Amino acid sequence: MAKKKTEKSVMDRIAEANKPVTTGVDEKDIKQWVMIYIMGRGYKVPADLTILTAMEFAGYRFVRGVGCRQGFCGACGTVYRKAGEYKLQTGLACQTRVEDGMYLVQIPFSPAKKPIYNIQKEPYDVSVLLKYFPEIARCVSCNTCSKACPQDIETMDYIQCALRGDFEELAEISFDCIRCGLCAMRCPAEIVQYNVGQLGRRMYGRYGLKKPEHLKVRIKELEAKKFDKELDVLEKASKEKLVELYAARVREKD
Ligand code: SF4
Ligand code: SF4
Repeated sequence: MAKKKTEKSVMDRIAEANKPVTTGVDEKDIKQWVMIYIMGRGYKVPADLTILTAMEFAGYRFVRGVGCRQGFCGACGTVYRKAGEYKLQTGLACQTRVEDGMYLVQIPFSPAKKPIYNIQKEPYDVSVLLKYFPEIARCVSCNTCSKACPQDIETMDYIQCALRGDFEELAEISFDCIRCGLCAMRCPAEIVQYNVGQLGRRMYGRYGLKKPEHLKVRIKELEAKKFDKELDVLEKASKEKLVELYAARVREKD
């Protein structure tokens, strides 16, 4: 059956439904607006929204490329250009505020070459990183990766640590990586930095750190089935009971 001319498009209906959610205020009360361009089409959106909420305000609905919305999961890595600027900017869509004249386009997901390895069979030296990520030797020290990182991680430095086989420093510098992929997307040497960091941290955790005493104690307790009864109660509890138990839990002292 032909659509009536007055019928709203799906995009308009989504945009309308999103407005009270994304802004929390009535449209007539919004004082500042900016123009953003999504795939070349202009949208007027409230000035204080993030890219993510602005796109929802404009009618887009995310089923992929979005996760926690709080800057932790790394799912919404985004590139954009500002009006009149040549430079490509990067950021998390959930943390970056829209600006007047911002241009956004859809890009494919970041590359994520994931080698399969067993760290128990690998030597604790630089050769393991070069074996699975030989491309790190191509790093030209351009620092583009660090500039692209929304976590302000010195990404280039941890790749240099990888090249030196300095696992401890690599783990320390890359610790806050959320695997958003923006560094890899910009790297001229096609290095997937976050996977290098992950292998480095795994190796450091396995070989570089001393086994903590309390972990040994806990493993013995688990082997002796010390917590099985409590786990059984949790597994059978209703959602309401779980909420009640969570609220009444004994907190560990700092
Ligand atoms: S190091 Fe790369 S993947 Fe990790 S948070 Fe920074 S830009 Fe994202
Ligand atoms: S972007 Fe690539 S080549 Fe440039 S410093 Fe970072 S890892 Fe090295």
